[in-house]
Amino acid sequence: MAPARRAPKRTPRRAPAPRPAVVLPRGPGVDLAEAPHAHVVCRVCGRIQGVDLSELDRHLLTELAALHPDGWTVERVAFSLTGACRRCREGPLVR
Ligand SMILES: [Zn+2]
Repeated sequence: MAPARRAPKRTPRRAPAPRPAVVLPRGPGVDLAEAPHAHVVCRVCGRIQGVDLSELDRHLLTELAALHPDGWTVERVAFSLTGACRRCREGPLVR
């Protein structure tokens, strides 16, 4: 008689860990209304998709906000990447 096969163990699904509260920094000329964010834009079709940032990434973007010229204030930080989405890379419009 063949040994009984065990069903593969299933890992219980867990809700994603809550994001830590982001402390919005304020400094000379920097008064952010929201946490810095990032996205990637497809140069072919214009599709935009958000990019996950770590706490360190957000910190770095916040530091960069302080590089504004004198006389300016910074209220939002958005880091933008440009490229081609999968659909456009694999489709007939690729050049
Ligand atoms: Zn595209």
